[in-house]
Amino acid sequence: MPTKITSWSEYQVRERPPPPPERVSSHRWFTEDMDHIYREVRDELPLYVQRTAEEKMRNHSLAGMRASHEVMGLLLGGRFTWQGREYALVRDVATTELEASEYHVRFHEDGMEGLFESLDDLDFVYSIVGWYHSHPGIGCFMSDTDVRTQEGSFNSPHHSALVLDPVRREMEAYHMVEGNVVLRALGIYWDLHQDPYRG
Ligand SMILES: [Zn+2]
Repeated sequence: MPTKITSWSEYQVRERPPPPPERVSSHRWFTEDMDHIYREVRDELPLYVQRTAEEKMRNHSLAGMRASHEVMGLLLGGRFTWQGREYALVRDVATTELEASEYHVRFHEDGMEGLFESLDDLDFVYSIVGWYHSHPGIGCFMSDTDVRTQEGSFNSPHHSALVLDPVRREMEAYHMVEGNVVLRALGIYWDLHQDPYRG
């Protein structure tokens, strides 16, 4: 299957049932607030992250922690509708060379080529569902810079921002509602018969 990058305006939203509830779980890194909203809307989650993508993000953030810097990447997947509700599914993540320090991260100018090469390796048609980055040791929140990034590069209502703190082992996701940062409920979709709490 050919791969291509599609913007939301080109991307065709498909009708498809969401992951079955028995394959969707909370995450051990969810903060109390994240776990709370997960439980509140678990039957109608707006965002699912496949376990393999979650594992890549978590390992990326842990590797960054050992090197004392933040990491970031793109959330790749699709947007779907089912019985009148919309949801997004993250199937993979992509990253590249980063300019990173303990409190700062961005894609390196020279890294974009590598990023697009790694996107070319994907074997599904995907869209960018949002981005993730880490906050080692400082907890999960959206800084002013993060909000500017979200509004500048991920400005569709379907775009999410996922923040991981690999030191405190916390995870939260956000989206923008009328200029305000709001938590976004998500569930981990383990479709490979794997226990998301192992490893
Ligand atoms: Zn941040």
